[in-house]
Amino acid sequence: MIRLFNTLTHREEIISTIEPNHLKIYVCGPTVYDRPHLGNARSVVVYDLFFRFFRIVFSHVTYVRNITDVDDKINEAAKEQGVSIHEITQKNIEHFYADMDALNVMRPTYEPRATNHIAEMIVIIEKLIKNGHAYESAGHVLFDVESYKNYGTFSHRNLDEMIAGARVEIASYKKNPLDFVLWKPADSDDDISSIFDSPWGKGRPGWHIECSAMSSKYLGDDFDIHGGGVDLQFPHHENEIAQSRCANPKSHYAKFWIHNGFLTVNGEKMSKSLKNFITVRDLLDQGISGVVIRYFLLSTHYRKPLDFSNKALDDAKKAIGKFHEVLTNRHPELTNRHPELTNRHPELVSGSIAQPILDYLSDDLNIAKVIAALHEMAKEIKSGNEAIKENFAATLDFLGLLDANLLTKSQTNDVDKNHINSQIALRSKFKQEKNFSEADRIRDDLLKGGIMLEDVAGGGIIWKKSS
Ligand SMILES: [Zn+2]
Repeated sequence: MIRLFNTLTHREEIISTIEPNHLKIYVCGPTVYDRPHLGNARSVVVYDLFFRFFRIVFSHVTYVRNITDVDDKINEAAKEQGVSIHEITQKNIEHFYADMDALNVMRPTYEPRATNHIAEMIVIIEKLIKNGHAYESAGHVLFDVESYKNYGTFSHRNLDEMIAGARVEIASYKKNPLDFVLWKPADSDDDISSIFDSPWGKGRPGWHIECSAMSSKYLGDDFDIHGGGVDLQFPHHENEIAQSRCANPKSHYAKFWIHNGFLTVNGEKMSKSLKNFITVRDLLDQGISGVVIRYFLLSTHYRKPLDFSNKALDDAKKAIGKFHEVLTNRHPELTNRHPELTNRHPELVSGSIAQPILDYLSDDLNIAKVIAALHEMAKEIKSGNEAIKENFAATLDFLGLLDANLLTKSQTNDVDKNHINSQIALRSKFKQEKNFSEADRIRDDLLKGGIMLEDVAGGGIIWKKSS
């Protein structure tokens, strides 16, 4: 029995599936105009944990996470950088996979791209026009919000509040400023790969219609769960609901809605102008393990705001270091793991997931209790309870927090460890003497031998095998 907070009803409810034992979930995926930042990654990692958990609970899970590869932001990025849309989207899709693989994120069941589903979007828009919920104006097709009496119910707003709060575009071709774009005409300087034929002329779809089309194609008009970041509640999800229910009056669209909280940096909103914009790649390039970043992203309850700070990252490093340290001398074949092959591989992890962890996850993903239980297990193993070692490894693997490289580090033999520690001591001495060239030489020599040094808060140094 899983209890989750449903944004649609504003209360905790027990999850039940429309089709017995088959959970269908859709999550809004990346708009591929930029490298994923920590806020993007939080959403991806949170739903990855949901996916892993649902796979344990239900016999079938269909998880759809779309790729938005046609969007105003992509067109702007292409124009700014003077490259083709195709180049921008391909590059950023590759970056997305590379960065998310490093965070042990599993691939969803389906990852539809918007540009492959234009025909399905056109069908919905045609239905909306036919049902009297959309109109054509100055080359655009717009959703008529006044035609849908429940507009605003999902995000608990009335029309005036929405107009005041949402920075909606006031345009002469709109009947109501809140009417949103289903189809927009191409600009004269648009890249050919962002221009599609439609009954209303050449152009491209609005963002909201993409998710309505791709969710119903892969999951049906009615499905179990829809997820996304809290910033998507309005207007994106409000609009998805309006257009899907109006196009298919008998459907309710998603039965259950979940939203993850936003991410701040040292208490401030992350933004390029504040120069506190952190990408996953920035942290990986500093030699921080993907599982450390993942642990940090999961460490606060998914619905609460999460604040990034060096202290929070250090705490994550310490926890992950401790978890791997207690798993020494086991399963050397773990080093052969591939990032895509995560989650419960019997050939690699012989234990079973600790039951209390699953119980805590059933309680609206009570991560505080999960983390406390992990620390408790690590403590028990350290004090000699070898019997739970395999279950601990299996639990970490299930949560996506097991890193084969860190295990290898823990398993490096004592001779190596002594050598490395003496080199670190020598390097500290050189640094104190301000002999930085010698200190750097030691660091570089160790790196050549596959050992990476990392300075941590408080002046300490940790080392790990570089991958
Ligand atoms: Zn969406």
